[in-house]
Amino acid sequence: MDARKEMEALVKRLLEYQKAYYVDSHPLVSDMEYDRLYDELKRLEEEYPELVLPDSPTRRVGSDLTNDFPEFRHTIPVLSLDKAYSRDEVISFMDKTISKQQKDLSFVAEEKIDGISMVLYYEKGVLVRGVTRGNGEVGNDVTQNIRTIGAVPLRLTEDADIAVRGEVFLSKEAFVSVNSRLDDDKKAANARNLAAGTVRRQKSVEAASVPLDIFCYEGFWAEGKDAPESHLEILSYLKRLGFKINPHLACFSENREKSMRLLEDAGLKGDAYSFSQMQEYIDQKTAERKNLEYEIDGLVFKVNEIKVREQLGYTEHHPRWAIAYKFESPQAVSKLLSISVQVGRTGRITPVAELEPVALGGSTIRRATLHNQEYIDSLELAIGDTVSIVKRGDVIPQVEDVIEKNEDGNTVYKIDMRCPCCGTTLIKEGAHLFCPNRECPEQQIGLLSFFSSRGQMDIETLGPKTIKMFYDAGLLRKIEDIYTADYSSMVGEKGIGEKTVKAIMDSVNESKKQPFKVVLSSLGISEIGKKSAEILISGGFDSIGKLKEASVEQLTAIDGVGEKTAKIIVESLKDQRLLETIEKLSLSGIHMSASEDDAEHYDDSLSGTVWCVTGSFENFNPRSKAMEEVEKRGGRTTSSVTGKTTHLLAGKGGGSKREDAIRLGVKVVSEEEFIKMLGQKKDKIEPKKEQLELF
Ligand code: NAD
Repeated sequence: MDARKEMEALVKRLLEYQKAYYVDSHPLVSDMEYDRLYDELKRLEEEYPELVLPDSPTRRVGSDLTNDFPEFRHTIPVLSLDKAYSRDEVISFMDKTISKQQKDLSFVAEEKIDGISMVLYYEKGVLVRGVTRGNGEVGNDVTQNIRTIGAVPLRLTEDADIAVRGEVFLSKEAFVSVNSRLDDDKKAANARNLAAGTVRRQKSVEAASVPLDIFCYEGFWAEGKDAPESHLEILSYLKRLGFKINPHLACFSENREKSMRLLEDAGLKGDAYSFSQMQEYIDQKTAERKNLEYEIDGLVFKVNEIKVREQLGYTEHHPRWAIAYKFESPQAVSKLLSISVQVGRTGRITPVAELEPVALGGSTIRRATLHNQEYIDSLELAIGDTVSIVKRGDVIPQVEDVIEKNEDGNTVYKIDMRCPCCGTTLIKEGAHLFCPNRECPEQQIGLLSFFSSRGQMDIETLGPKTIKMFYDAGLLRKIEDIYTADYSSMVGEKGIGEKTVKAIMDSVNESKKQPFKVVLSSLGISEIGKKSAEILISGGFDSIGKLKEASVEQLTAIDGVGEKTAKIIVESLKDQRLLETIEKLSLSGIHMSASEDDAEHYDDSLSGTVWCVTGSFENFNPRSKAMEEVEKRGGRTTSSVTGKTTHLLAGKGGGSKREDAIRLGVKVVSEEEFIKMLGQKKDKIEPKKEQLELF
């Protein structure tokens, strides 16, 4: 199907589903299925913006308008919410908002009540109208039914002209009790559907027989009035006016004390958090959810400062100052076409599901990890099965479950016990299979790619595809070949010219300046990453010669080196192949001791310092870039502020680390000061280098 037709079909289907859900209160599909189709439409619209249909559900809020009630044009924006499915998406929303505003902001978190959106209009303190969300611009006037809800004040404590948004809902207990009295064909699938149906009853006596409830969460004042300055103040004022506010509130800011103060100043009870406690909060609310008296389907995070909200504004669909974290991750359903088996640089075998392409969380998924044979066995997975796929946070998509078995008679997939690359018989270690052949081409290509990758030796012209090509041509077989290969012999092959060869040789030569700690962490010795290389060097093992001589006891005497790590290092450095590689690399001028790290190129101005980072930055994005600058200059980095930390680099926002730093007397450094310390101008800070693929 071409994109236009596909988009038309999706819009038609989604609008049909919306009517069934919002108007008839009888959904035709699950919310997950609805969200999956919605995401697919969103993806196509991003790809073909010129084909977006004017009535697309992504451009307006799902409409609950019916002909059964008079219409009323809203005087305030009545929109939906943007959605997030992971803590990281919420944090990224907060980070972006903070950096856009260049301010220390605070956020209020509320439960996302699974009910019906309602707008209550008051004139001089008297309820004049209860209106559904409708299509965001026009809603249905359901005042008579809304008046029956005990928690909706008919008269406020002040003569205010105000519009209030709230969520009408039915408690779990009331749902069970009301539903049990209904005839089978009238029974609702859940509390939300029953509440939605009740709000639309033609006879308000019938609506009155269902104990609907409401939580109010937004207030809008006529312009020119002394409107509150924060969301917390709005909630507090709504409470004073007589509205029912959900008491389960939380406030997030750079530290707990500030959040606590904001709640206190507004005269509200609630939980105070620092940004760094986001996961804790989400975990706690996820666990609490089942014990609540009403249904919630997520959490809503809103900018607290009203002025900032006004600056951020709205899209046609949602405010830019809030995000809804949904409890359920999006799922997709696809067919398993085949399973490919990958060999990693350590020889580890990973089965990968090759799937019929399917939209999931805004991207098209064609492959998903299957981890290992044990995982395949636990799913009883066979080729041709229909499977569900999930993507949690930023993790790689994974096959979650088998929904329908194949009809081709295929049985549970078994990984061939021979390496798919070199044919060597695999061995099992723990849950994983490994190819024991160190010469296996895929392992070698993996090792070469790792060695030259960004963050390691940083040879920007040698990306994985180029390495594979040179490997196949016999030019690069081992790490050491990188420095001795005759790249000019490739001129004329696959469009390689003199210029390309020069670029490769320049970046290969440049990589010789990498300090010993980078070299050590690039050799592919398991357990020696950047951190452990640093620890070993500062523990006195500052050359490969010293490390070769080291015993397990000597290594474990270093703070931060465990026995397992020590044993692996000692074992690895007895391996003849690795020793040969080290020898040859050394002959090519690669630094094999910290003392060789040329002072001209190796700035150690931060040596002896230990840095931690918090908040977001203008010039270091992601913030790991700032930590790379520290490490380049011989400093150490840690993920939390401890007694050993000497500096905290503090950007915008950030969490409790600042408090910890102040408490422990750690120097707090701003971005501007940091740049000065690096001795660089802002515009000199290297932009993030992507590895170039030449072919
Ligand atoms: P939504 O329900 O995901 O989020 C927006 C709404 O949350 C707001 O309009 C508001 O009414 C409500 N809300 C609850 N507590 C709130 C709080 N504390 N602060 C602010 N708002 C709060 O969005 P939506 O546009 O109403 O509905 C879309 C969702 O509905 C879809 O993601 C899908 O899950 C479901 N849906 C399902 C079908 C189906 O056929 N199954 C069809 C249409 C929509």
